[in-house]
Amino acid sequence: MLPANIHFIERGWLSANQMFFYDDHHLDIIDSGFCTHANQTVLLLKSFLHQFQHLSTRNLFNTHLHSDHCGGNHALEQQFSLTCFVPEAEFLPVSQWDVEALGFEELGQPCPIFTAHQSLVPGEFINIGAYQFEIHATPGHHPKSILLFEPHLSLLISADVLWENGFGAIFSGITDPSGFLEQRESLKLIEHLHPKIILPGHGQPFTDVQTALKSAFSRLDYLEANPDRNAHHVAQVLFKFMLMFEHQITFELAQRWFQKTPIIQKAASHLSLSTEELMTHTMRFLQQAGVMKVQDNVMMNEFNTP
Ligand SMILES: [Zn+2]
Repeated sequence: MLPANIHFIERGWLSANQMFFYDDHHLDIIDSGFCTHANQTVLLLKSFLHQFQHLSTRNLFNTHLHSDHCGGNHALEQQFSLTCFVPEAEFLPVSQWDVEALGFEELGQPCPIFTAHQSLVPGEFINIGAYQFEIHATPGHHPKSILLFEPHLSLLISADVLWENGFGAIFSGITDPSGFLEQRESLKLIEHLHPKIILPGHGQPFTDVQTALKSAFSRLDYLEANPDRNAHHVAQVLFKFMLMFEHQITFELAQRWFQKTPIIQKAASHLSLSTEELMTHTMRFLQQAGVMKVQDNVMMNEFNTP
């Protein structure tokens, strides 16, 4: 399905997928996975370069700065010569390492400090491997996210804006309905670009774009019609994400995480629930879904799937 000079790596949760694009001399990388998988990220690249010894690393591009997409930046920058590109609106926050503006604290997720050297500017073009991609702003799942589109191959790097079945959580939808409107506009943009192949941030590449868009619009309708569903979904996704990287956590630590994570507080306040009530609701949901087990005083992750 993909030309030989595009190497797609479907990473397991918690890491987002990675892509290697190369021309005769240089290798460019899209996204870098989650920090607890950083060694694996480095090894994947080393093993690829071992097979293609004529290639030297050139650029690292981040579609958006969620910790599962840029958590390996630090490790890659330590070991390889790379120019790191982030979406234009993130350049200053990364330069100042402003964790509040970057949103890592807001979501209760770790991300090792890294250096951004260049910006991805919506409306401009960028060379990635042997191709030239259009850069488009796609707020919604993440307010500063971009997607990358190569018109000749009709190939879209969709990050978490569109997956084969759904899209990433709308975190901003808790406090501001514009999150839903922006996600809808971003999905409409994909509809307009009319890509033939999509390389998503999670899951396999896919070509049935119409079905994916239909399912994404219907999911968005469902969340937008009742923002309480979105607030619960955000709490469930973030707690499960934390459980996936901690593996297990005591009741007391889980309670502290609920209390200290700003977006969880916003979700509780939107739902008019106390933190404890939201925690109980979230626990019950994850247990019923079979993705978390509770034994004695400990919550344990079951299945690495969100
Ligand atoms: Zn994301």
